[in-house]
Amino acid sequence: MAKYGLLVDETRCTGCRGCQVACKQWNDLPGEETHQSGEYTNPPSLNANTWLIIDFKEVEVDGELKWSFLNRRCMHCEHPACVSACPVGALKKQNDGPVTWDGGKCIGCRYCMVACPFNIPTFTWDEGLFDGGTKIRKCNLCIDRISNGLEPACVKTCPSGALSFGTHEEMVALAEERLAKNPEKYYKDQGIYGLKDAGGTTVLYISHIPFDMMGLPTVREEAIPDVSETIMKSTPIVAVTWAGILAGLWWVFGRRNAMMSGKKTDSGGKED
Ligand code: SF4
Ligand code: SF4
Ligand code: SF4
Repeated sequence: MAKYGLLVDETRCTGCRGCQVACKQWNDLPGEETHQSGEYTNPPSLNANTWLIIDFKEVEVDGELKWSFLNRRCMHCEHPACVSACPVGALKKQNDGPVTWDGGKCIGCRYCMVACPFNIPTFTWDEGLFDGGTKIRKCNLCIDRISNGLEPACVKTCPSGALSFGTHEEMVALAEERLAKNPEKYYKDQGIYGLKDAGGTTVLYISHIPFDMMGLPTVREEAIPDVSETIMKSTPIVAVTWAGILAGLWWVFGRRNAMMSGKKTDSGGKED
């Protein structure tokens, strides 16, 4: 089975946030009341009701001031650390690429949040921990659209051609073609982010700004699951204690973020 790929060409992104809105609309995710924080990124981070954000940054590249609009969402890793860390199989790597979640199976341990090298999975902080409501949320690559022959909602709505969708092979070829045809448009020889990073990802980036300046982390080329499994599973007592501490920290900071971004009204998502 051919694997999907989604190419983000940051040189074509205008920061219009159409993709962010289309994601909310397709996935029935409620709007959030947000507050002026002095930043353009709005809401300030991914959360249970926002699975894609445009992360605005003003960066100085080789002495020149540039805008960076990072299209941030799940990378749908080829060897996903979140799947590997989940003790109940609530996250699944589909054969054609998407990494999906099952809210019915999630027990709220948040191992996936710790394991993900891209800091992607988010949590339904406004639902009670003991009433069965707490769930992990993230982009599912619009699996309900792509399995019916449609493009993901974010790709469909992008007016500038910054987002492309097809097979992984096609997206790598498209990225290579653009880099070869107009090398001056892209940052030096940094190539394609996601080709090898973290063992390879479904979402790929090419850009005129150094990837690390945009906020894409420098990760190892080998798959993360081996590393996360060692840390999270080989020492159960440490893992349980650590998960407890993290649960407390995430609860405190999650509540603070939730209060800063306004109270959420619904958990959203179509897969429950
Ligand atoms: S980016 Fe994070 S949440 Fe998404 S598939 Fe990779 S490890 Fe899982
Ligand atoms: S693929 Fe679908 S769920 Fe994922 S960011 Fe795009 S619109 Fe949202
Ligand atoms: S819709 Fe396209 S141009 Fe607009 S912010 Fe998203 S990726 Fe950029």
